[in-house]
Amino acid sequence: MSEMEKYDILIAGAGPAGLTAAVELSKKFKVLVVERREPGTTSCTWYSYADRVKKHNIEDAVVARFDRIRFTSPTQEHDMMDDAVTLDHNKVLQLWLERAKANGAVIRQESFKKYHYVNDGVEITTSKGKYFARLLIDAMGSGSPIIARHRLIKRHDAWVIYGGVIEHEKHEKPYVLEYYPLNDKDNTYVGIHPHSDTLTNIYVFQGRYNTMGNPAELKEIFEKTIKELEPNGKKVQNLAGTIVSGSLKKYALDRIIFFGASGMLNPDGCGMGFNEILKQYQTFAKGVTTAMEKDMLDQKTLSKIADSLRDQETMNFQKIIGAFSLYFIKSEGKWDGGVKWLNAMGEDSKYWMRNEFTMDWIMRANLRLHRVIPIKETISMIPMDNLAFVLEQLARFSVKAATSVVRNKILK
Ligand SMILES: Cc1cc2nc3c(=O)[nH]c(=O)nc-3n(C[C@H](O)[C@H](O)[C@H](O)COP(=O)(O)OP(=O)(O)OC[C@H]3O[C@@H](n4cnc5c(N)ncnc54)[C@H](O)[C@@H]3O)c2cc1C
Repeated sequence: MSEMEKYDILIAGAGPAGLTAAVELSKKFKVLVVERREPGTTSCTWYSYADRVKKHNIEDAVVARFDRIRFTSPTQEHDMMDDAVTLDHNKVLQLWLERAKANGAVIRQESFKKYHYVNDGVEITTSKGKYFARLLIDAMGSGSPIIARHRLIKRHDAWVIYGGVIEHEKHEKPYVLEYYPLNDKDNTYVGIHPHSDTLTNIYVFQGRYNTMGNPAELKEIFEKTIKELEPNGKKVQNLAGTIVSGSLKKYALDRIIFFGASGMLNPDGCGMGFNEILKQYQTFAKGVTTAMEKDMLDQKTLSKIADSLRDQETMNFQKIIGAFSLYFIKSEGKWDGGVKWLNAMGEDSKYWMRNEFTMDWIMRANLRLHRVIPIKETISMIPMDNLAFVLEQLARFSVKAATSVVRNKILK
């Protein structure tokens, strides 16, 4: 019988999370990545920002560039000024795959099945064999069998997405990256991500509460939308999936750590997961490297690494803004208010989309929100079941406001 292959780290899942972790960690450790699909392919599609893409050295995958992202509502429009890009999603993964391989990582098309603990490590069973690893990184997204086995997700809120890349008649440039609502009772939206003057990714998406949903349910709406937008368009690639915004009860187990953002699985709230991974993967890999070198791979140490990825300001903002977002999303016709708020934010609105917050920004966003939502309704949305959190935030804001008043007086 042949001896079991041994690795320092086994990464299950070769999405953006698994592959970025593989690129960084294979610089120092013996890494195996297992992916159930053909590695380097995905059914997701990504837009990002020129500066982030440059910083993370994936500019070769850019297919279109824009200077704005447009949000439309029945009576309002907001152009979010930012240097946005759409990416060839498979090319992004291919770039990372090649970099990981060049560092010596082994990448195989196999499905993760189960694990059990053995001396000083974990034994992992895949569809094709068994492996030993000192550490297992779960990068299988929201459908991870480990998450399911340990019932680690508290809630599933999902954006269900159905659509595809459409080949159409030549469009005049410039085109914009756009989101607009269909104004139906389910609050369905359309996302338009141009790839070139003859190719555009067009999809419909719907926010669902406490369910994973089935993207194919949106097929009919999508087909109707396409008839209106691109009557002669031909679908050349299918894109479907769910962006989950739930919350995990635990972030790590002994010798197992989760990394990823199938939507925003870790922090409560919603966001653009691919962009989150770009922000976080180096911090994650640094934490894991230290833990591996010190051989401290217990749940407590690994949980600390996972927690370090949860930026406190972002989380506070998401908790607060989450309630308001629901107000816009769940109440028919109020999307207008959402766009009005973006207009009130002016150039600052881009930080909302980027998930880049400071206390100052959060204060401004809240104050401007009150101009859009009547104060009575605001009060009714305060999460009373989490009063301690609300009071803590109020205290933080008050200290911040007082400090800036004093600072302004001194400066005068
Ligand atoms: C249609 C669509 C459009 C999107 N648009 C944007 C956007 O414009 N910008 C943005 O920032 N984000 C966007 N997102 C969100 C983004 O795609 C996700 O947040 C991101 O892909 C999450 O990365 P991940 O690596 O954590 O998980 P995933 O991308 O879900 O990767 C998980 C990987 O694990 C594999 N896997 C699962 N189970 C197993 C198993 N048992 N064994 C082995 N492998 C397994 C899967 O096949 C998959 O490759 C979009 C998502 C969708 C669906």
